[in-house]
Amino acid sequence: MDFYELPLNDNVLDALDAMRFEKCTPIQEKAIPVILEGRDLIGVAQTGTGKTAAYLLPILNELSKGTYPEDAINCVVMAPTRELALQIDQQMEGFGYFLPVSSVAVYGGNDGILFEQQKKGLTLGADVVIATPGRLIAHLSLGYVDLSRVSFFVLDEADRMLDMGFYDDIMQIVKYLPKERQTVMFSATMPDKIQQLAKNILHDPVEVKLAVSKPAEKILQAAYVCYENQKLGIIRSLFADQVPQRVLIFASSKLKVKEVAKALRQLKLNVDEMHSDLEQAQREEVMYKFKAGKVNVLVATDIVSRGIDIDDIRLVINYDVPHDNEDYVHRIGRTARADNDGVAITFINEKEQSRFKSIENFLGKTIYKIPLPEGLGEMPAYAPQREHAPHHHHGGHGGGTQKARGRKPSGNK
Ligand code: AMP
Repeated sequence: MDFYELPLNDNVLDALDAMRFEKCTPIQEKAIPVILEGRDLIGVAQTGTGKTAAYLLPILNELSKGTYPEDAINCVVMAPTRELALQIDQQMEGFGYFLPVSSVAVYGGNDGILFEQQKKGLTLGADVVIATPGRLIAHLSLGYVDLSRVSFFVLDEADRMLDMGFYDDIMQIVKYLPKERQTVMFSATMPDKIQQLAKNILHDPVEVKLAVSKPAEKILQAAYVCYENQKLGIIRSLFADQVPQRVLIFASSKLKVKEVAKALRQLKLNVDEMHSDLEQAQREEVMYKFKAGKVNVLVATDIVSRGIDIDDIRLVINYDVPHDNEDYVHRIGRTARADNDGVAITFINEKEQSRFKSIENFLGKTIYKIPLPEGLGEMPAYAPQREHAPHHHHGGHGGGTQKARGRKPSGNK
């Protein structure tokens, strides 16, 4: 569907035109009309689906009409991490360049100047505030932020916010907002606690869902629960009985890729590695050798997880738990292509348990945990509920920016 088929005003359509957005993505097609109608919304969608524009566009459509107070914060967007806040801010910056709407990004950092800049943006009443919970609360507690005239409240990646322990922070922020407001929540998954949160802060929401791609059923998935220093031992025992062939091992950093490749070379295995330190020509050479069967084991970062076209990979090993569900699906999707069966095994250390649990939630099933091979010692218990990702509370980390972009119909904030 083209954007002009949606009831967006000319300002927004011009901005889209300038940014060369022509067709809406499926989540945008579904979510934009609902938000324009003024309804609360729960959107189930992941990064990469266009979810950010799905809520920013209709909100900017309303804000650019010029009927909202100029000296007030009209919209608050909450994001779990500084990285996501920055990404949202970048899209906002794109749209804000063409629309009379200002914004400020508010996230953790220990830089006093940036804190002051955020304070200024918040005090002047930027139209859109994009914030991580801890830092927004830090500003709120100092008393100069007025959220009483907010018309739009957005929670992006709500499941991740709850995973990071931000439930109380969110509820505290909600207390500063007027009851009369439109609330939009996006989440990649819909576990019970998200539905509970939705019940608490949304009013009669419309649920908009994308059919998420799940891995092929014929991939046999399993996992080892272990300590980090047991991971190499597991690989050794997996490869002890027969020489591995067409095995792809993923690790999330190039440092780890190099370490694992080195350890496997010491086992006299035919191993190569792939990561962003290699030049394009080297990468092509590695891929060629792996495809041709001249290399049996390829150790790689996620640069290989998308779009490589090798049909008969027998085994994918996740040396560490992928950062998100999508990466998991992409990684294990490298096996069981075409008519082949495939096996995908993930190594989960103590710190990775909650992330793996959220992958299991996404898959809607529990992955079989293989007992550790003999001689490797005790394994940790799999108890992901008790694990918590680090809290990013008050003044956590990173920096902050304040920008006043675009113009108001009048005024200069
Ligand atoms: P998101 O899922 O919100 O992280 O968006 C993923 C990327 O897609 C961002 O870089 C957006 O700028 C881009 N994008 C979102 N919607 C569209 C669209 N309708 N047409 C082209 N690009 C888009």
